[in-house]
Amino acid sequence: MLEGKIVKGIGGFYYVKSDGEIYECRARGIFRKQDIVPMVGDDVKIRLNKEDETTGYVEEILERRNELFRPPVSNVDQAVIVFALRSPDPNLWLLDKFLILAEEQEIDIAICFNKIDLVSDEEKLEYNRIYENAGYRVLNTSTETGEGIECLREVLSGKTTVFAGPSGVGKSTLLNTVQPDLKLQTGSVSEKTSRGKHTTRHVELMSLELGGYVLDTPGFSSLELDFLTEENLEVYFPEIYSKSEDCRFRGCRHNKEPGCAVKSAVEQGEISEKRYENYLLFLKDAMERRKY
Ligand code: GDP
Ligand code: ZN
Repeated sequence: MLEGKIVKGIGGFYYVKSDGEIYECRARGIFRKQDIVPMVGDDVKIRLNKEDETTGYVEEILERRNELFRPPVSNVDQAVIVFALRSPDPNLWLLDKFLILAEEQEIDIAICFNKIDLVSDEEKLEYNRIYENAGYRVLNTSTETGEGIECLREVLSGKTTVFAGPSGVGKSTLLNTVQPDLKLQTGSVSEKTSRGKHTTRHVELMSLELGGYVLDTPGFSSLELDFLTEENLEVYFPEIYSKSEDCRFRGCRHNKEPGCAVKSAVEQGEISEKRYENYLLFLKDAMERRKY
């Protein structure tokens, strides 16, 4: 048997990459009986057909380290969240939303600030400081000057990455700079469904020459935050969560309570005002949701 990774699944076929080759596989009936559906990202063992050694059967699915549902993919190591520092201007509320969604998946997170050629160093450092203080790894890139591309390669190397971020920030250009033929290898499959009108996209992992994979669809963008509550919100803001144990009251929401360690950290500039403002906006949303 060979070991490999499912990089694409279409209509009951699983495309398994093993040692640089792709094998078209079906799944053994046993999985259906066990109510297990193989998914993109799965590390599997396959047995090749004797009469045609480009095809085979998925015999075994190795234990999944994690499963994302939208997009459906398993064994993801990290999310790289891309925002431009200009054109479009960064919307930090939206960035914090992406961070919350990635935190929810319990995967590593790096923020990639792109288009740094369009802003001053001061401005770049200001954005860096906000998110480095929050505990995130920050990369600064420009596909115009090539700055930071080597760093991005290092971050992607050997990992399975969801490349997330709003449209227009330069995700495709970045991936294309990292590896010019990356997008081409997939042909970005998009098929008409039987109803004709809607198109369904298939999730696909694109292989990096450096080792590792990048998901071909931007992650997280259309997801809802309905899992957020007043109680759990702080967990998604690492710097707020780590301060919260010093608050006078247990269950402090860091809003209007006296003796709030988070608020004093904001006043002393230890926690970014911007992050705190966004925390309060998400808190308000969570309170509104509870009412309904
Ligand atoms: P996506 O929607 O996130 O995939 O964004 P694209 O890769 O399509 O890029 C959107 C636009 O931004 C294109 O016109 C790119 O040429 C431009 N762009 C991408 N990266 C940079 C950069 O680092 N600096 C500048 N000035 N423009 C960039
Ligand atoms: Zn507090």
